[in-house]
Amino acid sequence: MVLSALLLATAAPVRVAQADQNGTDGQEETGMSTADILQSACTGGVESGMTAAYAAEAMRYASGLICVTSHDGSLSKTQFLSASLDAANRTVKSALNLDTADFEESIQPFDAAVYDSYARHAADFEALAQRMNAAVQSASGDCMRLLSRNLREAGVALLSGGRPQISLTWRECAALYCAFGGELDKIVASADELSAEGGVSSGITPVWANPSFETIASGGTREQLFEAKFALAYLKTVYNDDGSRAADETYLYDENYLKTVAHPLPGGKIKDSWYAPRSHNTRLHTGTDIHASAKTPILSATDGTVLYVGYMPIPGNFVIILDPYGYEYHYYHMYEISTFVTEGESVTQGQQIGRVGCTGNSDVFHLHISVVSPEGKYLNPYDLFVQAGIGPFETD
Ligand SMILES: [Zn+2]
Repeated sequence: MVLSALLLATAAPVRVAQADQNGTDGQEETGMSTADILQSACTGGVESGMTAAYAAEAMRYASGLICVTSHDGSLSKTQFLSASLDAANRTVKSALNLDTADFEESIQPFDAAVYDSYARHAADFEALAQRMNAAVQSASGDCMRLLSRNLREAGVALLSGGRPQISLTWRECAALYCAFGGELDKIVASADELSAEGGVSSGITPVWANPSFETIASGGTREQLFEAKFALAYLKTVYNDDGSRAADETYLYDENYLKTVAHPLPGGKIKDSWYAPRSHNTRLHTGTDIHASAKTPILSATDGTVLYVGYMPIPGNFVIILDPYGYEYHYYHMYEISTFVTEGESVTQGQQIGRVGCTGNSDVFHLHISVVSPEGKYLNPYDLFVQAGIGPFETD
């Protein structure tokens, strides 16, 4: 209060920081960064007309510590509420702008293209995950304190609402790093978003975005989401909690479940190539290959819902289908981006979902199938077909 009175008494230009719709900071209005403003003010720059007090205010505004910069008092309660929410979210973004230089140092040498490199640095990723979790908790606390102070000032009731509970594991942190690299903190910050239900007359209830791995990973492109999901499934499958290699155990499928599965390329020989080295030994093969000639129809092995139709460098053109029991079937290397199915569509077992191709990391025409369990681990599809009595099998 003392500070804002002081600021209002300065010669700072009068302006209202509009509740901005684009997520940009108030500093955008001047086209100068807060550091530029401060620099300009301290060196007596005249072009901006800024005072040091104004620069300090602008910096406080940018970090969310105040919800409006010098204003003429004409903000309506609703505008003030909206500005308060924006300010609260800016405190979160600013607190989650983590300095990860020491982390970058501790993971040298690190090969971002090799999953094993992530597992070797499990302890570093664990430390980073804990830092992220703590930063989210503390930023959310600051955010709520600021919001409650601003709303009290405006006479708007703040109804109870919990804080986000985030607990990223090292595998999740590593998988997000795999997809987002140095932008990891920004992607976590963008998932830690506060909104509100209600209004100035009824009071507002704060609502936090769900800070789960999946929500965070969804904050970038679709390819980044799937890259993160693939990395997480791989890290869960191949490594123990401490980053050491997990024992390869045969998964036993439920007898009733086995009856719901069929051959995706009837007559095609199924080859057990589980854990064979792939991509120049940078990762293990977590699926089964079935050779077939170009454009052979690929049939869905199960009923299900189409989760994804698209292209990525390693899978090539691929389709993901989620069956009614929570198992995901990934069909890789298709001839073209499938036009046989669309995302969100329901498919029935035996329905054509694509054609055999040789796209992505593939040198011969074949279908690669991966199966991911409801717990998010890759399972050996060869075991599935053997247990289901679906052949023929290729024995070399
Ligand atoms: Zn394969």
